[in-house]
Amino acid sequence: MVVLLDRVTDLRARVAEVVDLAQVAALLSWDQETMMPPKGAYFRATQAATLQGIIHERLTDRKIGDLLDGLDEPGVNHGLSEIDRAMVRVVRRDYERATKLPASLVKDLASVTTQALENWRQAREESRWDLFAADLKRIVELKRQEAACVGFRENPYDALLDEYEPGATTSQLQALFGDLRRDTIHLLDRIDRSGRQLDRAVFAQTFNSTKQLAFTELILARLGFDFSAGRQDKSTHPFTTSFGSTDVRVTTRVDEHDLAPALYASIHEAGHSLYEQGIPLELVRVALGDGASLGIHESQSRLWENFIGRGLPFWQFALPRLRESFPDALASASPGSMVAASNRVERTLIRVEADEVTYNLHIIIRFEIERRLIAGDIEVGDLPSVWNELTREYLGITPPDDRNGVLQDTHWAAGLFGYFPTYSLGNLYGAQLWAALRRQYPDLDARIAAGEFSIVLDWLRDRIHRWGRMKQPAELIQEATGEAPSPTYLVAYLNEKYGALYGF
Ligand code: ZN
Repeated sequence: MVVLLDRVTDLRARVAEVVDLAQVAALLSWDQETMMPPKGAYFRATQAATLQGIIHERLTDRKIGDLLDGLDEPGVNHGLSEIDRAMVRVVRRDYERATKLPASLVKDLASVTTQALENWRQAREESRWDLFAADLKRIVELKRQEAACVGFRENPYDALLDEYEPGATTSQLQALFGDLRRDTIHLLDRIDRSGRQLDRAVFAQTFNSTKQLAFTELILARLGFDFSAGRQDKSTHPFTTSFGSTDVRVTTRVDEHDLAPALYASIHEAGHSLYEQGIPLELVRVALGDGASLGIHESQSRLWENFIGRGLPFWQFALPRLRESFPDALASASPGSMVAASNRVERTLIRVEADEVTYNLHIIIRFEIERRLIAGDIEVGDLPSVWNELTREYLGITPPDDRNGVLQDTHWAAGLFGYFPTYSLGNLYGAQLWAALRRQYPDLDARIAAGEFSIVLDWLRDRIHRWGRMKQPAELIQEATGEAPSPTYLVAYLNEKYGALYGF
């Protein structure tokens, strides 16, 4: 017993150090995105690389492996607290992933992607696939090697998915996304046939950016964001980062000629940040202080942004307050016109601009390509034509060039394979959580219209936030909603909402 406790104490000390260092790295990168002057990039690159090297060294220290070996055998570990058992499980996972990859592979990936990101930027700008194809070919080779090193049971792509969505497999996602794709394509056809188009003119006026920012801060506070444990700044691409649950940073971006980007970026990031702020302090320095997965994280941001922020009750609450800042522009607006403006559906080519209905089709295109590519069913040279075929098949439109097609996203250049599916998993989990929440509170709409967002936050804190990384994503959803993850709720939600908006 004494030996066991000594081992736990030793492991906790080593893990805490890795967590501290990772938070410092996150702070450096937050600064780079928000505050750093342009020339700061010169030394920041080496600072970040040195720090990452130290983190990797500490995490892969053979001593951590020895401690884990002595702690995670079934006979031994039930002497541990629930938190310590969870710590051992996640550190084992992180340690295995980090040690299974040869240093040369990690180094190759880092240098290839650095160059690839440069070339991709130019390729996209000039819409020239040939400027990026060779880099991507090399990246795909390295990712296939990575999958082989990490190991998998059924499909090499599983090994890559697991990094972002622990436990997720290709065959599971094929089942979830297959239904979602079929039903979304059907819904899109009905929207077309309705002949109706929603008017977003009310958003497309001039809105002073200082006032917009002030309004986003008011909304953040009302949703429950604790400004004594976080702050909001501006960045080109909005994001959330956490240095432990008592210091969570969000960013937003403002467009003077469109109300939507700042408001919805802030609400989206509010969802991520409320999750981070809700993680108990005692989980943070034992490597359990992050979200359960990217998919679960995205379920939080999408729930607040789409299910709440684009709904009528939210606008009943928000419009009178927003009108105080913009009395002229919003003189004739109604909650209903704000809902219409924030839910226009269009078949468009660019994922990041897509609406709630078409968004998942953009993701499923990428999932299909990644899955086939990693399995070796298609090669990098096939990508532009496969991309265009799938876009035609799912969205009914064809990209006029690669800039608006296969070259639009940065993920592949950065070596992120297996990341895209987490966006749609987030929508799917979000819908399932939303349905469970509504079952529990039949008067939820009225409570939201009255600005009682704490009812939502408290429920999420209890079912999701307080667990940090202690549970696997599927387990968390099962326990929070009483069912395994399923596309049913997202499909039902989309049909009901858009049926009402488009009159069918
Ligand atoms: Zn997000």
